[in-house]
Amino acid sequence: MKILAIADRVSELVYGPNIRRHFGDVDLVLSCGDLPYDYLEYIVTMLAVPVFFVRGNHDREWEQTPTGIAPAYPGGCIDLHCRAVEYKGLLLAGLQGSMRYKPGPYQYSEREMALNILQLWPRLGWNRVRRGRFLDILVSHAAPRGIHDQADLCHRGFVSLVRFMDRFRPRYLVHGHIHLYGRDQRWRSRYGETEVVNAFGYRILEIEVPDRRR
Ligand SMILES: [Zn+2]
Repeated sequence: MKILAIADRVSELVYGPNIRRHFGDVDLVLSCGDLPYDYLEYIVTMLAVPVFFVRGNHDREWEQTPTGIAPAYPGGCIDLHCRAVEYKGLLLAGLQGSMRYKPGPYQYSEREMALNILQLWPRLGWNRVRRGRFLDILVSHAAPRGIHDQADLCHRGFVSLVRFMDRFRPRYLVHGHIHLYGRDQRWRSRYGETEVVNAFGYRILEIEVPDRRR
């Protein structure tokens, strides 16, 4: 299964007339936040595959519509926050937001993030019973503590995401929030059984989906 993962920066290759030529063979798209909603809408329209997303700390909460203020939402896309879903045998879960550093939405304390994760437990446990594994990919905006993260409060990673990997052993944790400058900055790391990928801009992931009948 081929996956287009995106985060934080609009890529001209994606947001362009040749998107189908470059990415027409992907099975799904994972958006890790801090991207304009119309960008996601363009992708879901042009590629006609599911776009699963989590929101970042810079994402809009409300928008003006002809009938008044309404929650802002990328049309046609699937919100993964605090949800675990299955798509063609692939087990996904999502956690939006960054470390809380100022008033505003989509930010959490360490404890609040741990509570978000707790909401995923029943479904992940059910996956384990039915599929023999908790999940394949965790989509987050923030990084795990100590992996790709930075020292300032805004960009500090969550300890609870490290604990998540210890407990549920996803094959990928795909995150955004950490901007990459230059080629030397690390964007891919191994933690236990998990490949941690910073999707800044875009990245292509390939994953074998285990036998669905398991
Ligand atoms: Zn961010």
